[in-house]
Amino acid sequence: MLTIGTPFIFALAMAKKIIITIDGWSSCGKSTLAKQLAKKLNYIYVDSGAMYRAITLYFLRNNIDLEENEEIKQALKQISLEFHSNPNTQSSEIYLNGENVEYLIRDLLIAEKVSDVAAIKEVREFAVAQQQKMGDKKGIVMDGRDIGTTVFPDAELKIFMTADTAVRVERRFKELYAKNPNITIEEVKDNLEMRDYIDSNREISPLRKAEDAYILDNTHLTENQQFEKAMGWILSKIS
Ligand code: C5P
Repeated sequence: MLTIGTPFIFALAMAKKIIITIDGWSSCGKSTLAKQLAKKLNYIYVDSGAMYRAITLYFLRNNIDLEENEEIKQALKQISLEFHSNPNTQSSEIYLNGENVEYLIRDLLIAEKVSDVAAIKEVREFAVAQQQKMGDKKGIVMDGRDIGTTVFPDAELKIFMTADTAVRVERRFKELYAKNPNITIEEVKDNLEMRDYIDSNREISPLRKAEDAYILDNTHLTENQQFEKAMGWILSKIS
C-alpha cells in the first residue's frame, strides 16, 4: 500500500502542478476530498457548485425569470463572484458582490432551484469562463458536475465520485439537520434525486463521467481510505 511518507512529500514538492477534477453525483463527498487534496498539495480549491448556488441566490433575491434570456443576461452582468479564505477555518468561502454567502447558499431553498438555474446556457457560459480562468496556472482542485468533461477536458487527473443513494441521503441529511432540525429525510432524498436527474439530463454539459476519469465509489470507504486512493492516482500522474 502507498504510504504518504517523506519521499512522497518530497515528490510533491518537486512535482509539476497539475489540474485535478472531481465530478460526481450530489452529496458524494466531492468537496471533502477536494479540500483534503488541495490542502495536502498546497493547491487552490474551487467549489464550482458554490458558484451556481450563489447565482441562484442572486436570481431568487431579484426575482429573475428563468424563462427570460435577456433578463438573465442583464442579471449576470450584475454578479461578481469571488472566493476568499476564512482565516478561522482556513477554508475557501464564496462572496456574491462582496457579501459572504457561504452559509446562505447551503439552504434547501437554494438546493431546490439551483439545478434549474445551472441548466441555463448563459449561466453555464458565465460560470465556466471564470472557472477556466482560475485554472490558468494549474495547481488547482475543482469539484462539480462538468469539470472533467467541459471546464478542464485536458486535466491531468480526473476523478468521478459515486456512492449508494441511501448513503448520500444520510450524509446530506446529517449536514442539513444540524442547521435545521425541521428538515425531513424525505425532503433531502427528493432534492438529491431531483438534482441528480436534472443535472444528468440537461442539454448543456450534463453530469457525465469523463472517459478518462477514475471512478471512486466511496460507499464503503472511510475518508482516509478515499484520500489514500486519490493520492495514489496523483502520484502516478506527477512522478
Ligand atoms: O456541488 P453542489 O451540490 O453544491 O452543486 C449544486 C448544484 O450546482 C448541482 O446540483 C448542479 O445543479 C450545479 N452544478 C453544475 N455544475 C457544476 C457544479 C454544480 O451544474 N460544475
